[in-house]
Amino acid sequence: MSGRAAERAAVPCPIGRAAEVVGDRWTLLILRDAMVGVTRFDAFRAGLGIADNILSNRLGRLVDGGLLTKVPYREGGRTRHEYRLTPAGADLLPVLDALAVWGGRHTAPGRPAEAMRVLHAVCGRELTAGEYCGHCARPVPREEIHWLRPWRSAEPRAIAAPVNGG
Ligand SMILES: [Zn+2]
Repeated sequence: MSGRAAERAAVPCPIGRAAEVVGDRWTLLILRDAMVGVTRFDAFRAGLGIADNILSNRLGRLVDGGLLTKVPYREGGRTRHEYRLTPAGADLLPVLDALAVWGGRHTAPGRPAEAMRVLHAVCGRELTAGEYCGHCARPVPREEIHWLRPWRSAEPRAIAAPVNGG
């Protein structure tokens, strides 16, 4: 356990410990993009408009925190790494879904047409209470969750699956 992890583990409040790991604007946005399948440094950078050093720092912290794992791949004869969600990182999906609902409700009043919607891909209905579809009357697994963000031209069909590892 790193010094930082040991320090974090000593904090009694789990919200406080979680804030240590994800309580940063860039970190949340990296996780958002990872949820829809972004894995490569260049793709995170292009999507976020983030400086290289900050992106490196935040990806490193997410790896240290066990939310992302580095997976090697070959490209142009070189080995590079991509960043994939671990089960712990993937477990933040309901948190981001809740942030999307909260953000839509409280951060841009008067812009309902641009609202992000968290949908059940199977029936097309909106999920309003956690990861449960009232229409289908069942919990919704992540691969059936679809983020609809009308300001984007293309949206992946489903949320990315986690990988094991660390
Ligand atoms: Zn449904």
